[in-house]
Amino acid sequence: MRAMSAARSAFPANSSSSAAASTTAPPQAPLAAEDSTPAVAPAPHAWPVAHSVDLSPFNTLALPSCAARYLKITDPAQLTAPDIAGTRRFVLGGGSNLVLTGDIDGLVLHMAIAGKAKTGEDAEAVYVTAGAGERWHDFVQWTLAQGWPGLENLSLIPGTVGAAPVQNIGAYGMEVAERIHSLTAYDLDTGTVRRFDRAACRFAYRDSVFKQEGWHLDGRFAITEVTFRLPKHWRPNIRYAGIAEELAMRGIETAMEMTTATPADTRHCPTPRQIADAVIALRRRKLPDPAVLPNAGSFFQNPVVAATAAATLCTAHPGLPVYPQANGRVKLAAGWLIEQAGWKGRRLGPVGMYAHQALALVNHGGARGRDVLALAHAVQNDVRRIFGVELTPEPVYMPNIAFDPSDTYENGTLREKSTEQ
Ligand SMILES: Cc1cc2nc3c(=O)[nH]c(=O)nc-3n(C[C@H](O)[C@H](O)[C@H](O)COP(=O)(O)OP(=O)(O)OC[C@H]3O[C@@H](n4cnc5c(N)ncnc54)[C@H](O)[C@@H]3O)c2cc1C
Repeated sequence: MRAMSAARSAFPANSSSSAAASTTAPPQAPLAAEDSTPAVAPAPHAWPVAHSVDLSPFNTLALPSCAARYLKITDPAQLTAPDIAGTRRFVLGGGSNLVLTGDIDGLVLHMAIAGKAKTGEDAEAVYVTAGAGERWHDFVQWTLAQGWPGLENLSLIPGTVGAAPVQNIGAYGMEVAERIHSLTAYDLDTGTVRRFDRAACRFAYRDSVFKQEGWHLDGRFAITEVTFRLPKHWRPNIRYAGIAEELAMRGIETAMEMTTATPADTRHCPTPRQIADAVIALRRRKLPDPAVLPNAGSFFQNPVVAATAAATLCTAHPGLPVYPQANGRVKLAAGWLIEQAGWKGRRLGPVGMYAHQALALVNHGGARGRDVLALAHAVQNDVRRIFGVELTPEPVYMPNIAFDPSDTYENGTLREKSTEQ
């Protein structure tokens, strides 16, 4: 019997990649933000912890880092082992939003909990629950194959289901927050299982309560499963102009007003599969494949500034793309700022900003975390100097250290510091 999964999991822990569990199950009752349950007693020492584990295969920037202790989590009950609670730890997913700046002197919990199933249904939506370790892209494609659209715009984002809420992943006009119903997390500090509904997750642009409270750095919560609410009355989301253009290139007609069309009016309505295929094609053209050129996707968030600041910037830099937000503030394109600052395709040591997309920082081979910190710092400095705009890195730095200003490059290589005083 699996202690935690028996208590809370929406699907049997070993039902990985299962098809729909039931078409008649009621949707889960609304969840209280603070709903928490003590975990059932653990089975101690059932899962041996490995020592001195190389993490370079587990991060898409391919940075070297050694975990003092490492445990692969395939079952939520493993999280209840008593020796985890008092330990310094880090929760690892697919390592695709991560800069490993050095060794990790603690316990790495590598989330690999599998399983996905339909867990409820009502007049408006289908509810689908997936284990934290499921690969995000595979999960999205599976929902589409089951006939449950709603996540197609988020196709091909690397990483795991469990990490998706942490930074509220978003792409092509959509954020995952729009589709999250609730999630289950194990609180490693208190030894309780917590349920977070959507409001309790406090989602914002590339942000959630897990980042706001710093829990993503101190490993307080391990998200074990996420429940999605997928709409039955689906409407295509082609707010991002590039999708309509890609569909048109494929001979698929679209009408901009389709998002308000009646269900009967599907003449110019692309299918969810067609939208997913368009997104996948766009992403393959624009972004480097980490398997070929290690990277962590967009390295900086798009800065959001006051409308007055955006207007001043537009006067000084007429080509600046701006995206007014619902709250009156204005989002700027970080990639454009980096390109204008002369960093597109430029290298510093073994790392550089990608030649075809200035926002992606890539490892050309042999880079260490310090190299990434140095380049990020140089790009931030130049954008600040030219535009007065602050760029915030999107990936998580672990350990969370700052750039060391005494790090300098000589002939393209980071100069080793002398150990002499
Ligand atoms: C080529 C490329 C393209 C990308 N495109 C996008 C994009 O379009 N949009 C976007 O938003 N992101 C994008 N990303 C970033 C990344 O894919 C996402 O942020 C993804 O959700 C990270 O998942 P992960 O499993 O790899 O998390 P990791 O990198 O392993 O971890 C990221 C953070 O989440 C925490 N975490 C991970 N799993 C859990 C868990 N189960 N419980 C609690 N905390 C957890 C970690 O502690 C860490 O703080 C891209 C990355 C790459 C390499």
